[in-house]
Amino acid sequence: MFGIFFAGCYNIDNKNKKYMTMAKTGSIGVTTENIFPVIKKFLYSDHEIFLRELVSNAIDATQKLKTLSSFGEFNGAMDDMTVRVKVDKEAGTLTVSDHGIGMTADDIEKYINQIAFSGAEEFLAKYKDNANAIIGHFGLGFYSAFMVAKKVVINSLSYKDDAEAVKWECDGSPEFTMSESDKSERGTDIILYIDDENKEFLEQSRVDALLKKYCRFLPVPVISGKKQEWKDGKMVDTDADNIVNITEPAWTKKPSELTDEDYRNFYRELYPGQDDPLFWIHLNVDYPFTLTGILYFPKIKNNFEVTKNRIQLYCNQVFVTDSVEGVVPEFMMLLQGVIDSPDIPLNVSRSYLQSDSAVKKISSYITKKVASRLDELFKADRKEFEQKWDDIKIFIEYGMLTDEKFCDAAMKFDLLKDTESKHFTIEEYKELIAPEQTDKDGNIIFLYATDVTAQYNYIKSATGKGYDVLVMDGQLDSHFVGLLEQKIEKSRFVRVDSDVIGNLIQKSDKKTVDLSEVQRDILTSLFNSQLPKVDNSQFFVNFEAMGENDAPIVITQNEYMRRMKEMAALQPGMNLYGEMPDSYSLIVNTENPIVKKISVAADGALAAKVKPMMDEVNANNAKITSIRDAKKEGSLTDEDNKEIDALQEANNKLREEQSHVVAEYASSQPVVGQLIDLALLGNGMLRGEQLSKFIDRSLSLL
Ligand code: ADP
Repeated sequence: MFGIFFAGCYNIDNKNKKYMTMAKTGSIGVTTENIFPVIKKFLYSDHEIFLRELVSNAIDATQKLKTLSSFGEFNGAMDDMTVRVKVDKEAGTLTVSDHGIGMTADDIEKYINQIAFSGAEEFLAKYKDNANAIIGHFGLGFYSAFMVAKKVVINSLSYKDDAEAVKWECDGSPEFTMSESDKSERGTDIILYIDDENKEFLEQSRVDALLKKYCRFLPVPVISGKKQEWKDGKMVDTDADNIVNITEPAWTKKPSELTDEDYRNFYRELYPGQDDPLFWIHLNVDYPFTLTGILYFPKIKNNFEVTKNRIQLYCNQVFVTDSVEGVVPEFMMLLQGVIDSPDIPLNVSRSYLQSDSAVKKISSYITKKVASRLDELFKADRKEFEQKWDDIKIFIEYGMLTDEKFCDAAMKFDLLKDTESKHFTIEEYKELIAPEQTDKDGNIIFLYATDVTAQYNYIKSATGKGYDVLVMDGQLDSHFVGLLEQKIEKSRFVRVDSDVIGNLIQKSDKKTVDLSEVQRDILTSLFNSQLPKVDNSQFFVNFEAMGENDAPIVITQNEYMRRMKEMAALQPGMNLYGEMPDSYSLIVNTENPIVKKISVAADGALAAKVKPMMDEVNANNAKITSIRDAKKEGSLTDEDNKEIDALQEANNKLREEQSHVVAEYASSQPVVGQLIDLALLGNGMLRGEQLSKFIDRSLSLL
């Protein structure tokens, strides 16, 4: 156990006065090894937080005096209660001064010289990258000064009656000296003699930047240097003190004291140069934990802003960090603003933080609060909510996808937008479409488009049938559609172009396609022979009896495969789907008069030739089957195998010949290629050489 001990030769019970009679030396009661190398060695990454620690101490001392005064325990003058940070480049010092309660020699003994420090090594090894944790754990705020200073001096005069000023000096070894001081003003000066590696902290601009980062919203005015003005072509100091902080930031006030403009102004203060926020939530709890703050819904223009302008975490108005992972639910990383809570433990690792019960409560409180605020906004002014929908949609969908509780709450105010730009809640929409869009199995079919322009034809044929089509063009929609399917009972989401309209919402059993085997074979070869080459796409010919007024050919893309590919694009590790070509169905409407005409003509011209070939193929197949059936599995002789191979070879030849015959015929039938190209054109898939061929063919047909 690393005990607390005093190497000094004086008695702990000695009164102040005793120290004052002569200069004393002593050892700081830390551990057998001393604390300074530890501080220097382990806290390399976060050196700058020493300033936060010293200024916070100065603020605390000031606040304590104010409290004492309000209780009538201090009656002295309190005209200047500011905290000053001063750099003196020549002297190589940085000084933090306050007019707070100050310290007596006894106080220094008790609060500075004695440091409880146990289990040090182990703890440091674990948290060496987290200076907040170390400082929080050991209450080492003051000692963080040694991260940047070769010598530190405390010069202090306590508020107490008859107190005598005291000076403490320490050069970074465990020895310190205490002596009388001639300080006549109440309060404390902490003077840092900045070491050679940390000269940057003697630059006014660096110090000001740090104060802006950590001290911007401290409750007591912090002065650093003088206000500057533009004079004779350069910036020069004026006589006025430069106050770096706002002592009463918006989140510390009551919501009733703030106007919308106040909230917006505070947002501008936090994130200058950004568009005004969409709306905000003022957080205010004091049981079972203390937390205040304001969360803003930003207008997200690009992802870069999201990662740059994050929620800031404060502890009693002292900036701690802007990495709030684990404190707020993940989806709220899209929000901005401030959270201030002394109840978030800083002296623990991130992974521990997430399992901390106070943090869990905080996180779920924030989720609840955000959901209820959204609900409130939705109910209070639905029109405005709808107007902002496009901007907040990504946030709400992200929340619903990643947080079960938020999802349940958001089902009430999540909106769906249709192609006519009308907004509906999920429940409203379900009611709207249920009568028309329920299929024969009782599933409600939600039709959607991801690109209103590209899918125009499909949308038109769906709305023409009296169906409604949603717009699902957001970044997260391909995932979100899957979530809605889970949440809405007996629902299915299908993109308008994923099948022909009659199949998207099947009202009755499908009409059968009226084609003989030979006709079907001929037509398949006919259309296959005229299929164009489209980059990274595959087409499969299918037949549907859609109706005589429906289009001759419809190109559709399978819903499941498309969704898989889209999701693969969003997440690594699903490459298999990502690399596959897009596959489309080329659906030939056998009831369309043009198709009928083509079919009849082809049948007339080709059946006599094709039929015998098909018969032969079928006969060969029958032979293969009978050879296989005659023997038990695995017991085919070499002879058998040879025969099967020969039959298969013959079939391949026959099919090739058949394709050839059909293709030759097809080239005399430009209407086939024309129909295919028209369908491709309708999908924006006809480009380059294919498009120019189409134009030539169209002209020659005219
Ligand atoms: P913490 O602030 O976490 O208690 P510190 O090491 O920063 O730890 O400070 C130890 C103590 O020293 C403080 O609690 C306070 O009592 C005293 N102290 C530090 N700085 C000042 C100051 N500027 N004025 C008065 N007391 C101070």
